[in-house]
Amino acid sequence: MNNGIIIIGGGASALMLASLLPKNSATIIERNAQPGAKILISGGGKCNITNEVMGSGYYVGESSFIQESLDLFDQKALLKWLENRKLRPVLRKESQYFCPQSAKELLDLFLKESKKQKILLNEKVTEVHKRGDFFRVKTDKRTLSAKYVVVASGGLSFPKLGASPIGYEIAEHFGHSIVKTAPALVGFTVQKEQFFFKELSGATTDVAIKVNDRVCKGSLLFAHKGISGPAVLDTSLYWEKGKIEVDFLPNFSWESIQKSKKQLSSLLPLPKRVTKAFLVQLNLDDKQGVKTTAGELLLLQTLNHYSFAPAGTFGYSKAEVTKGGINTDEVDAGTMMSKKTEGLYFTGEVLDVTGRLGGYNFQWAFSSAYACATGMKPYL
Ligand SMILES: Cc1cc2nc3c(=O)[nH]c(=O)nc-3n(C[C@H](O)[C@H](O)[C@H](O)COP(=O)(O)OP(=O)(O)OC[C@H]3O[C@@H](n4cnc5c(N)ncnc54)[C@H](O)[C@@H]3O)c2cc1C
Repeated sequence: MNNGIIIIGGGASALMLASLLPKNSATIIERNAQPGAKILISGGGKCNITNEVMGSGYYVGESSFIQESLDLFDQKALLKWLENRKLRPVLRKESQYFCPQSAKELLDLFLKESKKQKILLNEKVTEVHKRGDFFRVKTDKRTLSAKYVVVASGGLSFPKLGASPIGYEIAEHFGHSIVKTAPALVGFTVQKEQFFFKELSGATTDVAIKVNDRVCKGSLLFAHKGISGPAVLDTSLYWEKGKIEVDFLPNFSWESIQKSKKQLSSLLPLPKRVTKAFLVQLNLDDKQGVKTTAGELLLLQTLNHYSFAPAGTFGYSKAEVTKGGINTDEVDAGTMMSKKTEGLYFTGEVLDVTGRLGGYNFQWAFSSAYACATGMKPYL
């Protein structure tokens, strides 16, 4: 079977690309029974499509590479493209755009738009080679031939939704280097000293977390296995190993605490059981604020810079994304074509580009697909 363009993977990036390419020019190969599985479960079922505040600063990766692609198709262009197809994302949580009702609206739009291409489902790509001007794409069912191949197979996160290392294997076969991958936008497991966190499972509080030279603000959720929640997920993007510092009381003023007759567990703006657990850790009684000594106040103030080293992360099975990936130095930012092999392209999460929480990863999947479609135009 001879195809013009083969797109490996049928996720967000592939579906956008298939929608942008001319009719009957591409074949998507997707190992799942349905394309776009992650779209459906994303953003709590409503898909956080993009963010009003956009820029390479919200990504980990090579910033000029990322910015060049974002500039080709930014959040405004994406929103316009969606609106032209009758999907008007709604603004929530200050700057994040979600589907109005459910993520299915976005998937349905893509399924309609990409109908003009062939989609092979339940078919797993196993190898890609190049002979002369043509690629040979081997699947578990057949071998296909194509003039152009786009690797849009995503990262390693959520293997139950189809994730596989095939993108990295293909890239390496064609001489590309891979920036070390790790689970990201994921919770942390804790070491012995913080095992008491697990007993606080379900409690949430607003925090500011310092990680290297970054500060991630938002909610922290005490979880069964450690800590999670938006601030922690963002922190995981910048963390490799070593300590993080959590400010559990980021906006609290200590001035009046020693004047108050209230108990400490009522005075501190944390869930009561969280304060009580920290008091135990600090060897302090839950006494009236007025009765706390200067030394005890200093101890309490360590909650503004509670420093500890996570044991690790919850892993790929729980991570929203994979950081690291195909080295972007070896890919053209304006077209997503490999600088090593003509006709080979990479889009989406498989590249070493990872966004923060807030719609940045879908925006990247779509912007890189747009760059790829534009880059292919002269050949089609
Ligand atoms: C729980 C969860 C919630 C998320 N929520 C958001 C959100 O709200 N906003 C946001 O911006 N991002 C979110 N993300 C991240 C976002 O889903 C991804 O960054 C995005 O889907 C990446 O798009 P992609 O096309 O590069 O890869 P994917 O969407 O992962 O698609 C890759 C596809 O390739 C297929 N594939 C893999 N190997 C093979 C093979 N060998 N042969 C054939 N097919 C193969 C996979 O089955 C998959 O369908 C979320 C992720 C998760 C897991």
